[in-house]
Amino acid sequence: MTIYFTNRQMKAAGWISATFLFGIIAQVADQYRSLLASFYATSLAPAAFWGSCICVVMAYSSRTQAKPNLKMIGALFCIGMAVVNATDITPVQAVLMDWISAGILMCGAMVLKHHRGQYTHNLLFWFNLLCVGVFVMRPMIIIMDIAPAPMQYSYDFYTAVLYLSSSILSVIGANIIFVALGADLVEQHQKEALADPLTGLLNRRGMSNIFRDMDADPDKLRQPGRAVLLFDIDHFKSVNDEFGHDVGDTVLANIGHTVTQIMQQHGQASRSGGEEFVFLFNMESSPAAFLVAEHLRVALSLLKHEGMPDDRRVTASFGLAFTRPDEPMKRLIRRADVALYAAKDAGRNRLRIAEGDSLPDADESMILPRPSQKEKRAANISVM
Ligand code: GH3
Ligand code: MG
Ligand code: MG
Repeated sequence: MTIYFTNRQMKAAGWISATFLFGIIAQVADQYRSLLASFYATSLAPAAFWGSCICVVMAYSSRTQAKPNLKMIGALFCIGMAVVNATDITPVQAVLMDWISAGILMCGAMVLKHHRGQYTHNLLFWFNLLCVGVFVMRPMIIIMDIAPAPMQYSYDFYTAVLYLSSSILSVIGANIIFVALGADLVEQHQKEALADPLTGLLNRRGMSNIFRDMDADPDKLRQPGRAVLLFDIDHFKSVNDEFGHDVGDTVLANIGHTVTQIMQQHGQASRSGGEEFVFLFNMESSPAAFLVAEHLRVALSLLKHEGMPDDRRVTASFGLAFTRPDEPMKRLIRRADVALYAAKDAGRNRLRIAEGDSLPDADESMILPRPSQKEKRAANISVM
């Protein structure tokens, strides 16, 4: 448990481990209540049982990063403890034990409610509701005095149902939780395998996967505004030579950060290698993609970088190519690449559109002017 809790990634597993510990304490305390002093006899089993439910809610919260309603959980726990100690009627205590647990688990359902997109969360959500249902219905055996003929006293029947259903739910729950944790680990490894650690963008493999999916689904390609933007940092070798490789890395990280900030909602970005980047637009119109690319070019040219003098800026050259019906991604990228090298040849720090591509709705005002020195100083953009 200690190992789990000291590792942030494994916190959910730590809470599940605590759930089992509390569950065992509750069961032992319940079975040996006659051996315990009266206070412990009435308090220990419910406290441990509700404690295990709280651990379940905390496990959900660790996985989803959503905060549970701790005030509500605390209030349910305190009310439960007060009532359990105020009465010595065992069936009343038993009913309370289940219903307070159902209340606590409902707080867990609230935690999971907004995260049902992920199939493991969805599974946990429905399992949680199953538990709530069982905990709400189980006490009906006592309240309505239901018992099969050989069991004259319904409380014995209730105890049998209690242990059987608790065991079944524990086994189902444990399996779901461990499947969920396993799925988390796999997902995390997949993400790491497709990410560039320096910039936080996708790596070459991550972007290749997306291109492969697009080639497999031509409808995606035909959407207007679908475009590939390639850009390459200008004279980056001289940045490394003048300021060192570490400063070069800082520049790459800053650029990655700015690309994420500006471009995140417009498509997917990757560092395809060295100081070259690929961006796949998901925009609806080509002029809009052009404007966003220009915005990025200007923003990058205004960045200040730690370890470099303030007046030394790093620029990049851009090539933009728009999708054509049935054009494979490879050819599209090739056209963007040619445009990028045209931008380099034309003097760098500029955006060139691939030959043959046009901007149907564009007018002169859509082409952003280069910022003047005065504007650059006023903008004073920095990511430090
Ligand atoms: P151009 O304007 O023509 O693109 O010139 P350039 O100097 O940017 O191009 P060139 O291809 O000659 O140099 C790219 C440099 O990028 C060389 C290499 O040392 C540097 N580089 C590649 N990957 C990394 C990296 O991960 N970190 C750092 N610091 N430098 C890198
Ligand atoms: Mg370069
Ligand atoms: Mg290069």
